[in-house]
Amino acid sequence: MLLIPCPWCGPRAQIEFTYGGDATVRRPAPDAPEPVWVDYVYMRDNLAGPHDELWLHSAGCRRWIRVRRDTRTHDILAGTPAGDAPRGAAT
Ligand SMILES: [Zn+2]
Repeated sequence: MLLIPCPWCGPRAQIEFTYGGDATVRRPAPDAPEPVWVDYVYMRDNLAGPHDELWLHSAGCRRWIRVRRDTRTHDILAGTPAGDAPRGAAT
């Protein structure tokens, strides 16, 4: 089980959170071509290593956080408010 560091509540068990998906994708413009929307909705990279994800502390403060997790080891490297960094800024 993951121990996720909520910026407001402190470290909490994964069971208190709901996974919100890849934090690096950006929503296309409403008039973007269909292939761009297909990529946005369905296509994701399967990265090995540090990756930014969105998690909702659904059984706690009910706030969204951005979690940087190593997909190889499941180590949580950071947990910050989702609004602190623009989406797609992760490297
Ligand atoms: Zn919280």
